[in-house]
Amino acid sequence: MKIWKLDRLQDLFAALAGERTLYIPADVAGQAKFTPWEPGMEMTKALNTNRSAKDLFFPQVEDLAAFKITGRQIQVEDNREDVEDFVIFGVRACDARSFSILDKVFLEEPADTYYKNRRDHATVMTLACSRPEATCFCTALGIDPQAPGGDVSCWVEGENLYLQANTQKGEALLEKLPAMEEGEKPQGDASVFDRLPLKDVDFSVFSEKALLHWFNSPVWEELSRSCLGCGSCTFVCPTCQCYDVKDFDTGTKVKRFRCWDSCMYSDFTMMAHGTNRPTQKERFRQRFMHKLVYYPNNHDGEIGCVGCGRCLRKCPISMNIVKVAKALKEGSV
Ligand code: SF4
Ligand code: SF4
Repeated sequence: MKIWKLDRLQDLFAALAGERTLYIPADVAGQAKFTPWEPGMEMTKALNTNRSAKDLFFPQVEDLAAFKITGRQIQVEDNREDVEDFVIFGVRACDARSFSILDKVFLEEPADTYYKNRRDHATVMTLACSRPEATCFCTALGIDPQAPGGDVSCWVEGENLYLQANTQKGEALLEKLPAMEEGEKPQGDASVFDRLPLKDVDFSVFSEKALLHWFNSPVWEELSRSCLGCGSCTFVCPTCQCYDVKDFDTGTKVKRFRCWDSCMYSDFTMMAHGTNRPTQKERFRQRFMHKLVYYPNNHDGEIGCVGCGRCLRKCPISMNIVKVAKALKEGSV
């Protein structure tokens, strides 16, 4: 276990950024977001970023290809650029777990090469939590916020930052840093997580009954009634992965790009015949069935939520996955 003095954190960032682009959670225009570090840039005091670290692997908008049409000829341009190695510092345990949830979608064969390139070139440095917010419930999903994983795990204790490599990538990164003192991993205080109000949300019930039991629950009608369909919950969510692919005629060629989409939107499933989720009830049900039932059904019971609490903080009508899980379990709102 390596030790770095916290009052020299800027020196650590400089050393990391000397190797490759370094992203840290910083305050930009009043919002905490993962940002390329520049000398003097401080870490945000916020526990977590507004949008998740997913953005660095699955950006909100990206070009996929371009087509040039000359007469009857179509020339395809592969505009993928070589991704350079980069480091993300300060990823919390919830966001770190979200990467493995996304990996099971994007890296399944045939792998999404846009996503894979970024995953392959990233070194993830996580940061253990010691002061969670009342909206955090990662522990209810089996995540240990004090053992955040990634390629390098970091802990803050007293005046020190403790660093532990977990993978070869992590070891290679730490080896390139200036020599550090060695020491024992700090003990930490887990009792604060036992006092969180949402720590006992029971997600195990979703594996106990058949898919159709949850799909046909009477609670969807009432729960969805006040949903505005704004999609905020999906855009801040580290595990949401819906996107749309669109073509844009620039006048000289056609650009194909993808952008995040939301199952909460009425045109998400729009097809030539119309949409097969015609009301907000179906759309609302889809989002929560996907996280609580469909994803676990396809991935050994793993729930498609990491308990980061972002949707609890951002929904304008205070609807969220915890309320939905409780209502489904009880069978009434
Ligand atoms: S559903 Fe909500 S709490 Fe769960 S991962 Fe997404 S934003 Fe976080
Ligand atoms: S943020 Fe709230 S209101 Fe908006 S789509 Fe999600 S659940 Fe509905």
